[in-house]
Amino acid sequence: MDKSLLKVGYEKNFGARDDIEYFFSPGRVNLIGEHIDYNGGLVFPCALSIGIYAAVGYRQDEKVRLVSKNMDNRVEFSLNDIQYKEDDGWGNYAKGVIKYIQEEGYNLKGADIYLESTLPDGAGLSSSAALEVLIGYIMLYPILGEKIDRIWLALLCQRAENEFIGVNCGIMDQFSVAMGKKDNAILLNCNTLEYEYVPIDLKDYKLVIMNTNKKRELSESKYNERRAECERALEYINNYRKIENLCQASLEDLEILKEDALKRRTRHVITENQRVKEAVELLKNGDIKGFGKLLIKSHESLKNDYEVTGFHLDAIVEEALKFEGCIGARMTGAGFGGCALAIVESDRLKEFVSYVEEQYYLKTNLKPEFYTCSIEDGVK
Ligand code: ADP
Ligand code: MG
Repeated sequence: MDKSLLKVGYEKNFGARDDIEYFFSPGRVNLIGEHIDYNGGLVFPCALSIGIYAAVGYRQDEKVRLVSKNMDNRVEFSLNDIQYKEDDGWGNYAKGVIKYIQEEGYNLKGADIYLESTLPDGAGLSSSAALEVLIGYIMLYPILGEKIDRIWLALLCQRAENEFIGVNCGIMDQFSVAMGKKDNAILLNCNTLEYEYVPIDLKDYKLVIMNTNKKRELSESKYNERRAECERALEYINNYRKIENLCQASLEDLEILKEDALKRRTRHVITENQRVKEAVELLKNGDIKGFGKLLIKSHESLKNDYEVTGFHLDAIVEEALKFEGCIGARMTGAGFGGCALAIVESDRLKEFVSYVEEQYYLKTNLKPEFYTCSIEDGVK
């Protein structure tokens, strides 16, 4: 986004000044490894070229003022008195992060912050983490500059979302936004925070994010249900042999499980974890088509075994795969709406978008959105 546009937005809301600072925080997508982070498995996210931009003017007093072009309400509060307020809506994400940074002993200055986003919110691309990490980075920038400990910031932002907002999210989102690296995905163990960057070169293909524009209504209750099912499956298996988490189960262990649903949930966990490892190998060897096939298998497993896709995600993935230049697609995120990703021949992007848009609309009566993304650095 052009800095001059951000400057105009800033000045309209807060007045002119010549020392405005500019920041960007990316959204993220998990390429593969879905619903296994809480089963001891590896995830494989990357930071995206779509995200939230900020123009910031630092203040000498304790005031923080926030405006987001994408939101109706302005938010204003003092660094000395930070409380959760329902009416502040999105501003609470900023408050939580700032409150916890201060509790760590940092002496912050006030700021006027103007935001503009190219990232759909509530669509599973982690706009909430993008916002949290952005605000944390902005507030600490005058003190720490680029020397900020990004993993520490990610953990602090996760705690803000867990405790101040009350959303029980894992660390993947904030980690990806803070630690993203251009043209790399992050192979991450969410339990230990061990990670490895894996270079991603898609050659003649592009990563396309497809927003179903179907709200993820069921996702929270089903997420909790799946977690409970996985815990039960682990208990049953542990009666026979000790494993620490469901990703350590093997396909032979499925015999132990009498309930069909538990069998299928566990099979997804085992095979998805395997697919992550295969995906890393294939990408290291430049086998993009092989990677595409794994995405298709991942979706099938999430649809039939884990049952978290739903009509809209299935429709958009099915239509995408009918297009000849699309070599792989799958849902991403919690499921039941939100986004899917596709790997599409660069030369045929336009055709792909108009084809899927039309077919998806015929099936669902909803207009989808498409984002052709590159993989970018974390917050900066
Ligand atoms: P996701 O993280 O998948 O996008 P969430 O429901 O976790 O969905 O977070 C979405 C929330 O994040 C929004 O409801 C809003 O409060 C906040 N948010 C996201 N983008 C922006 C933005 N550009 N400006 C202000 N708030 C935003
Ligand atoms: Mg979120």
